Amino acid sequence: MNDGGALRRQGYEAVVGLEVHAELKTRTKLFCGCSTAFGAPPNTQCCPVCAGLPGGLVAGRLNRRAVELALLAGLALGCDIAGYSHMDRKHYFYPDLPRGYQLSQDGEPLCRGGYLEFAAAGVPTRVRIARVHLEEDAGKLLHTPQGAMLDCNRCGVPLIEIVTEPDLRSGAGAAAFLRELRAVLLACGISDCRMQEGSLRCDVNLSVRRIGEETLGTRTEIKNINSFAFVEKAIAYEAGRQLEELVRTGQVRQRTLRYNPAAGRTEVMRDKERAADYRFLREPDVPELCVSRATVERLRRELPELPAARRARLQTAYGMRAEDAATLTALPGLAEFFGQAAAASAYPDLVLNLLLSDLLRICPGEPFVSPVSPGQLAELADLAGEGSVNRSTAKRLLPRLAGTQESPRALAEREQLTQIRDPGRIAAWAAQAVAELPRPAADYRSGRSNALQALQGRLMALSGGRADPVQAAQALRALLETNREEEESHV
Ligand code: ADP
Ligand code: MG
Ligand code: ZN
Repeated sequence: MNDGGALRRQGYEAVVGLEVHAELKTRTKLFCGCSTAFGAPPNTQCCPVCAGLPGGLVAGRLNRRAVELALLAGLALGCDIAGYSHMDRKHYFYPDLPRGYQLSQDGEPLCRGGYLEFAAAGVPTRVRIARVHLEEDAGKLLHTPQGAMLDCNRCGVPLIEIVTEPDLRSGAGAAAFLRELRAVLLACGISDCRMQEGSLRCDVNLSVRRIGEETLGTRTEIKNINSFAFVEKAIAYEAGRQLEELVRTGQVRQRTLRYNPAAGRTEVMRDKERAADYRFLREPDVPELCVSRATVERLRRELPELPAARRARLQTAYGMRAEDAATLTALPGLAEFFGQAAAASAYPDLVLNLLLSDLLRICPGEPFVSPVSPGQLAELADLAGEGSVNRSTAKRLLPRLAGTQESPRALAEREQLTQIRDPGRIAAWAAQAVAELPRPAADYRSGRSNALQALQGRLMALSGGRADPVQAAQALRALLETNREEEESHV
């Protein structure tokens, strides 16, 4: 049933809109000076204001950087920026929301009407962004043997909510959208997007309808999914479940669900609340937001190169494959590192290869922090490119350079790993390999050219891995073919 195939065979499609919550990369909270750092002991980073204690008024303060980051997100997504907006109280009862309402934006969001373009399974796709608004995070319930405990450290952490139009049609499409959105937020320094820490979460709104139908079906909303893989699976499952409900009862009940990854299905949390249930009320204690043209222009200049533009540039500049350009842009810091190393080397292709298939393996963390400098990687690529060491030696040297300032050339020379290209020594090893392995030598002479591999392996071993492989093959062929000619002339 994966990815709507079964749905489509029955003449239906899934329609998906996402609400993405991203914690903003500010040091302090939205309305007070408490720290936003993740992982502190419970209730050590809160005060009467953010914990919502009686009398803890949110009086006149608003984190300027949080507003700027929300605006940056809007600009990166091509939104219109509202010159004027304000915060609203969104009322609902939940044990992790002690104040009884969440400060959010309802009628006047900061940003509206953008879009994000990306490739979903190779197909260029554009998803419209309905809005980006600013709000505060809620606390966290900890379930302990003594009962549920409330940790207020996360209360009041600045968030943006990014709401898409219902433009997605599959789980894979939704995951591709989220990957691209994450790359944009990371590139702009808007959020650290650590899904395992909950700083990027996503609600999935989903309905099904007959293919060709224009009106939207009744939707369900799956709350707070914190992995792209689960988003994909939840969509696949929920689309199938809705179609089954639709066929069986003639309708889909509008509900709020959660995804249970262990069971692989969605479960009912509550019947869906309507906007009226929240009793949105304009927040009187927080100043209005007036965003000047000058601020918007200043922030626009602060925008870095966005991932899509960067991918296109890398592909044209280095002729690399789309997948490699995507890998380089997905991890913050990686494309910059590649750029520096490639500029310092005469062999950018080898830099790319060593980076993606060797260096990334020994430092998979995020953001990308390399244990070797761009200069070291460039020199290593040059050694391999000019033939001073062979490629497998270059790959073996990489982890040895990690954490050192050492020059790859000096290391290769000191360890006697530089390639040997002295024709006399190579010819001697070739003769020894042929003498030690008469079977493959005879096979080669009788026309089985594959047999050369065994001989070449032996030659390389005799040279301690240092013979130039191209010269080694040439020497063996020359030797075996002269012998053959001699034999033939004896006949
Ligand atoms: P709410 O704030 O009540 O959750 P919104 O109208 O703001 O509702 O929509 C939230 C998300 O749900 C948006 O991403 C939107 O595209 C999506 N959505 C709305 N209606 C449908 C539908 N019938 N099917 C699928 N997605 C929908
Ligand atoms: Mg919603
Ligand atoms: Zn506080």
